Order: sequence, then C-alpha cells, then structure tokens
Amino acid sequence: MKVDVAILGAGASGLCCAIACGRRGRSALLIDHGRKAARKVLASGGGRANCTNIDISPADYVCGNPHFVKSALARLSSWEFLDWIHAGGVATREEDNGKHFCTGGAISLVRFLMAEAQAVGARFRLGATINAARKDGDGFVVDTDAGPVRAASLVLALGGKSWPGLGATDFGYALARGFGLGVTPLLPGLTPLLAGPDMAALCQDLSGVSLPVGLSGPCDAAGSLLFTHKGVSGPAVLDASLFWRHGPIAIDFLPGVDLEAVLAETPRLEIKNALARVLPKRLAGAICDKLALAGPVAGLSPKARRELAHKLAAFPFTPARAEGYAKAEVTIGGVDTAAVSSKTLEATRIPGLYVVGELLDVTGRLGGYNLHWAYASGFAAGAYA
Ligand SMILES: Cc1cc2nc3c(=O)[nH]c(=O)nc-3n(C[C@H](O)[C@H](O)[C@H](O)COP(=O)(O)OP(=O)(O)OC[C@H]3O[C@@H](n4cnc5c(N)ncnc54)[C@H](O)[C@@H]3O)c2cc1C
Repeated sequence: MKVDVAILGAGASGLCCAIACGRRGRSALLIDHGRKAARKVLASGGGRANCTNIDISPADYVCGNPHFVKSALARLSSWEFLDWIHAGGVATREEDNGKHFCTGGAISLVRFLMAEAQAVGARFRLGATINAARKDGDGFVVDTDAGPVRAASLVLALGGKSWPGLGATDFGYALARGFGLGVTPLLPGLTPLLAGPDMAALCQDLSGVSLPVGLSGPCDAAGSLLFTHKGVSGPAVLDASLFWRHGPIAIDFLPGVDLEAVLAETPRLEIKNALARVLPKRLAGAICDKLALAGPVAGLSPKARRELAHKLAAFPFTPARAEGYAKAEVTIGGVDTAAVSSKTLEATRIPGLYVVGELLDVTGRLGGYNLHWAYASGFAAGAYA
C-alpha cells in the first residue's frame, strides 16, 4: 500500500494530523493496534473528556524548552477548537477553572474527529500490529501484520506510556530512538501521590474524604484533594504531581478561611467540633488526634490558635512516591524537542519524519491542556506532512 502520509497512532493527535493532511489533499493512513481509535479520549475526564480549557498558555506546559509549544498553540486557540467542534454538533460545558467538558460524553468528540478524518479521505488500519518503521529512499516503510505501507511522510503519534490498559506502549519512544532522536527521562505524571510512613495511617483512616485545598511547594495548585487508602489524589494533587520529585508539599486545608476568627466565635465548642465547622468532620477529628488537641476552644491560648491556623494553612505532607504509569494520566518527558521543529513538528535531521502529541517531551497541567496539545501539534504537523 502506498500513501502520502502514514500516521502511527489513531489518538487525538493522529486524528487531527490526518484531518489537516486530508484538507490539503494528502492521502493519510492511520495505523493503530487498538480496534477502536482514540481510546484515551474515550476514557478522558471520567468519560466526559475535559477537551480543552478556555485559558491556555505556554506556561501551562512542562517541556525541556518552554518556548517549544508556542508556535503550535498560537495556531489553535481553545476558542477556535470549540467553535469547530460546536459547529460539528459536539456540545461542551464550561466548569471550574475554564475546563470544557463534552456534555454528550467523550464519545461525541471521538465520533466527530473520526467523521472529520473520514470526510477528508483519511483511511484507518485498526487492530494492526506495527513491527517496524524505517527510512526508505526519500520516504518511509512501515511493516505491519497486514502488509507494508510506503509513505512519503511518517508521523509518530503513538502517545505516552501511561495507562497501558488503554493501549499505551513505549513503542513510540523505541521508534524515535531508532531514528536517532533523543528521549528525555520518562516519569508518570498527573498521578496520585503515595503517603510516607508518617502519614500512611492518617490517609487510610481518612480514605474517601475530599475537600478543596491549596497546595504549594513544588508548584501552586488548587482544587479538590481526595484521601485514598494509600495517600492523596484528586485534581489538585494530580496537578502537583507534575512538579513533585521529592520533599514535602504544604497543604492549605482552609484556603480563604480565617480560622482564628472561626475559633473566636466558638469558645465553648470542643476544638474538633469547632474545626468541623470548616473542615470535613473526619478530618477535623484526625487532625486533633494527630496534634494532640482536646478540650474546648477556650482552653487554647491566642498563640496556640495562631499556631493551629498556620499549621492547617501549610500542613506538611511528604509523599513516599508517585503512583506508577498504571494510574498516571500522562507521561512526563518524551522525544527531545531539541531535534524537532516547533513550527512543523518535523525532525530537523530527518526530512519527512514528524512527532506529535504526548510522545513529545511536552506535558500539560490538569485541565484539558494535554488533549489541546494533542490537537494543536497534530494540526501543526498536518499542515506540512
Ligand atoms: C484516564 C485518562 C484520563 C485523561 N483525561 C484527560 C482529560 O480529561 N483532558 C486532557 O486534556 N487530557 C486527559 N488525559 C491525557 C490525554 O488523554 C492524552 O494526553 C492524549 O490522549 C494524548 O494524545 P496522543 O494522540 O498524543 O496519544 P494517545 O491518545 O495515547 O494515542 C496514541 C495511540 O497510539 C496507539 N499505540 C500505542 N502504542 C502502539 C503500538 N505499539 N502499535 C500501534 N499503536 C499503538 C494507541 O492505541 C493510541 O491510539 C487523560 C489520560 C488518561 C489516561
């Protein structure tokens, strides 16, 4: 089989690349080992796909070269993306912090992307095993179990290695290395953090308790924190996991609450009951046990109240480690952007080879940024491949 562009990986980045290629009249073939395309999109946002964010900037991405994402992001704003999918019948709703979710579920977005790709003539080879891909004269050959594919351009859109249950592999990195591209160190990202010995029992006792917090230390993150039987999770924690490597994270259990004022209003209440006015009851009790606080609020000196307020505004939590790839939404690190053009996503030393999406050393924060990078980089490469 002969095509203009062979795209390895039919996820969000591969589909958008195929759409852009097709619009230019280029014949594109998407090859994926999954029987369904875009399985990560289907699972994203709890099945509702947090498909973009109205407030996207390069600062929302972690990359060895912080300027790398600028060019592709500048060519696909979240408003352009939303206008496009809304016009195609995919409804979204804005939720906290600018996150847009698909009201018809992630399936509505995947159906739309598939239909757009098919409308411009893209073809699919799903459920296929890719054995190898190599340079062949001016073009490339991809060896699959359904026969070889010859292409003028080759796009690596094979994603990161997190959530293998959704078809993720490390094959993209291996192929990139085979073409002589560098791969930066890989780590699981947007993942729960496991408690160290000092907090393990507390987390287990509080498993299921969730509350809004502010986090600081490796980065500033805000949102919900969920105690799990092994540590902490929830949007704020997943976001912080992108930046945490070691050392303590400070948890503000009472963002925007003046605890000293709350305590001043409730002198006769037991300390744990006073805290339970502004914290989940189980957490209030566990904090009192941990800090050996008992008796009425009136028994606390002004200094002790101030110290308690400070403690709850910067409660130290030192994770033992991040949860592994099985639970990580993304892979931090990837194909080194130093050898990839930020404008075309083409490997600078291998004309015709493009790398897009999460496979690159580009990781977005929690909030729709990773899918947006997948579309933006896919479209950018598809304008040239
Ligand atoms: C559970 C979960 C929830 C998420 N929720 C969100 C969210 O709400 N918002 C957000 O912005 N991001 C979210 N993400 C991250 C986002 O889904 C990814 O960053 C994005 O899908 C990456 O797109 P991609 O096209 O680069 O890679 P992928 O979507 O991973 O696509 C890669 C494709 O390559 C195929 N492939 C891999 N290995 C091989 C192989 N050896 N042979 C053949 N084919 C192969 C895969 O089957 C897959 O179809 C979530 C991720 C997970 C795991």
